[in-house]
Amino acid sequence: MKDSPEGTAWHQCETHEVAREHGVDPAVGLPLAQTQERTERYGANALQTHERRGWVALLADQFKDFMVLVLMAAAVIAGVIGELTDTLAIAVIVLLNAVIGFVQSWRADKAMAALRQLAAAQATVLRGGEVQVVAASTLVPGDVVLLEAGNQIPADLRLIELARLQVDESALTGESVPVDKQTDALPQTDGAALGDRLNMVFKGTTATHGRARGLVVAIGMDTELGKVARLLDSEDRSTPLQRRLAAFGKRLALGVIGICLVIFAVGVLRGEAPLLMALTAISLAVAAIPEALPAVVTVLLALGARRMVSQHALVRRLPSVETLGSVTVICSDKTGTLTQNQMHAELLLAGGLPWVPGDALPGPVHREALQAAALCNDARQGHAPPADWEGDPTETALVLAALSAQIDKAALDLAMPRVQEQPFDSERKRMTTFHRSADGLVAYTKGAPESVLPCCTSRWTPDGPTAMDGATVLASATELAAKGLRVLALARRDHARLPDTNALASVESELQFLGLIALIDPPRPEAAAAVRDCIAAGITPIMITGDHPATARAIAHRLGIVADAQADVLTGQDLRTLDEATLQQRVAHVRVYARVDPAQKIRIVEALQSLGHFVAMTGDGVNDAPALKRADIGVSMGKGGTDVAREASSLVLLDDNFATIVAAVREGRRIYDNIRKFVRYAMTGNSGEIWTLFLAPMLLLPIPLQPIHILWVNLVTDGLPGLALAAEPAERGVMQRPPRAPNESLFAHGMWQHILGIGLLIGGLCLGLQAWALHNGNTHWQTMVFTALTLSQMVHVLTIRSETQSLLRLGLGSNRPLLGAVLLTFLLQMATIYIPILQPIFKTQALSLTELAICLGAALVVGVVVELEKAWRRRKAQTCPPSF
Ligand code: ADP
Ligand code: MG
Repeated sequence: MKDSPEGTAWHQCETHEVAREHGVDPAVGLPLAQTQERTERYGANALQTHERRGWVALLADQFKDFMVLVLMAAAVIAGVIGELTDTLAIAVIVLLNAVIGFVQSWRADKAMAALRQLAAAQATVLRGGEVQVVAASTLVPGDVVLLEAGNQIPADLRLIELARLQVDESALTGESVPVDKQTDALPQTDGAALGDRLNMVFKGTTATHGRARGLVVAIGMDTELGKVARLLDSEDRSTPLQRRLAAFGKRLALGVIGICLVIFAVGVLRGEAPLLMALTAISLAVAAIPEALPAVVTVLLALGARRMVSQHALVRRLPSVETLGSVTVICSDKTGTLTQNQMHAELLLAGGLPWVPGDALPGPVHREALQAAALCNDARQGHAPPADWEGDPTETALVLAALSAQIDKAALDLAMPRVQEQPFDSERKRMTTFHRSADGLVAYTKGAPESVLPCCTSRWTPDGPTAMDGATVLASATELAAKGLRVLALARRDHARLPDTNALASVESELQFLGLIALIDPPRPEAAAAVRDCIAAGITPIMITGDHPATARAIAHRLGIVADAQADVLTGQDLRTLDEATLQQRVAHVRVYARVDPAQKIRIVEALQSLGHFVAMTGDGVNDAPALKRADIGVSMGKGGTDVAREASSLVLLDDNFATIVAAVREGRRIYDNIRKFVRYAMTGNSGEIWTLFLAPMLLLPIPLQPIHILWVNLVTDGLPGLALAAEPAERGVMQRPPRAPNESLFAHGMWQHILGIGLLIGGLCLGLQAWALHNGNTHWQTMVFTALTLSQMVHVLTIRSETQSLLRLGLGSNRPLLGAVLLTFLLQMATIYIPILQPIFKTQALSLTELAICLGAALVVGVVVELEKAWRRRKAQTCPPSF
């Protein structure tokens, strides 16, 4: 960090001193070459967050599991007394298990890091005379940063120029009221509290109003935020599902250990060698305790989140991936989300005469109106040729409309520079700018007709103001809006001198009305289909907009959000008069909200939630943040929105598109389904192993499996096939069923019964095989049980790919990774049986073809039974609609 001049702090210096000390001209910013050099000198503008877990720590994690330690100890004891191969084999398998767990965590961590990278903050800077958007981490001291309402402050800045800037500093000072900023030096306030340094803004706080230009004086850990080392990385890393699974896993582990103790005791009582029994029981405990479930859930969620990014949905909080499928209501903005936000002017109505862009101007009032539209306008000319106009689509549309009548904003800005402004905010729904020229000082206002017209007292004509009829103008505005057009009113006022800043609130009065300009913003082509998908999936789409009720209704009707062209629209005005109880009643039916202030969105969310809805809500502005936080899934805009909204949201639409929310919901449902599939598969396998070993002594059979068999089955079955379930495509009809209740158990809809029942079937088949082989004096019985157990789990994983659809309908090829994993597992199993050097290690014998066929047959029985279960489920769904 650059030091401020001896004995002073930056807020005590004049702006030119600060600029001089940093060797920068505030009008052009740092030369590009300088930024490179300074990056090397000062480092990245980043807070030090937690170290990423290194691979050693990750690997060590895999060995921490208590049962694994017990197993290793037992294996060593076994090795000392008995055969060393046993010990080695067990050690190798435990090692492989650890490697698989390690790879899973590694993948999950990497996917999460990639997501975080994507969500990283950006900043607008002036460098080498050009405005650029760069990653906030690349800022260096001396950079000139442009701020506007909604920006998160990217570093500590000394303000050098501003217009009505207000900053929410609660993150640093705890003070929740936004602070008005200034640029004057504050020489008296040395050592002042942060809240008193009015000409500075600090990293981590947010601009809530106005705009400004500031000079970076501190970055990274040198910022005030860095000093208090309040790391923003406080996000909870585990999801509700993971926490529930972890808690459940602990209880289950106790149960499994209990069963293993019984198996051990019974075995010893029957005269088995205690050490072998101990190894068997401990191996079973290691195999059957689902300690990997939370980790696998992370992998599935993180991989899912990565896939969602490719569909333009960036998940900022992992738990949202699992809850997306529960959304019952999507409240969406209109402009830009449901519509294309590619506006163009259709019509200008001034002095009673219409003008359509392209035609000749009918009168001087049209010229004045277009001049107002071009000047009271924040669109910027891009630097790259061809010089397009950039900024808010409403405003660029106005610039282009004016240009089509040879009224050039670029030339006007030079001739009539802006000297003061009252920026747009969505509460006032209007903005005013002051311009000075040779002819004097004029203020132009533009905004929503209901907001601007009450401030107008006359109509402008070249010969002086005349009386106006506000009601008629408002009626024509409504008429235009009913056609789905976005209507803005334009007005002007001459000023003798620049009003002092404090009086700004009252300068938007006694305006002279100029005209109405109507813009068209066509619906997004994919939006209507997405609305239909929503409705089919039991999700209610709701439009909430700041636009005119008639415009909102027209677009909502066109998109199919409301079926009736005269549907009820609730306005912000109505909302103010309704009490909570009435609001709840209305909210149950209303699909369109218009002229709504962002602050009112939170009431709508709460009313919907009190009706039991699980609400996704979009928002882009600063004032939307509370509603986004309150919603179950806050959705922000990646292109158009503010940092503040993004920070408050759990999902960012990279393309600002409504259809992307629907795609994300679909993906969320798929991922949740796949988690269920994994749990169903893994737990049924474990249950089969437990039943086999638990029931054998009850049926007076010898211990069916060696410890090494148990560990191997656990390794090959949980490893690859389980992970390949992540690639399972969405089931047919995921978006034709109603949303899942958010608090529903993971084991709902007969999963418990399946786990216990099919597990029992697998156990029964294995023991049946064993009894039959023993009865016939077949010495290969143990290898047969071992093989049947592996194969039946392979068949099982293929059949549980859908909860309802048959495998024939799904097709084997529709999840190739899984098919590959199953084939590979099969080959590995064959290797343990048929490769001579592996036989003593795995304590196997080569099976004859008939014996192998019998094992396969037993496995297929499992497949047939699961298919029957699914057929029964399908019939039940037909006779009574599904309950989920
Ligand atoms: P939405 O984008 O959903 O229409 P906003 O809060 O952005 O909601 O805008 C509310 C209203 O404010 C608009 O319908 C329009 O009448 C007016 N408005 C929007 N943008 C501007 C602007 N740049 N200047 C003046 N008025 C605007
Ligand atoms: Mg808007």
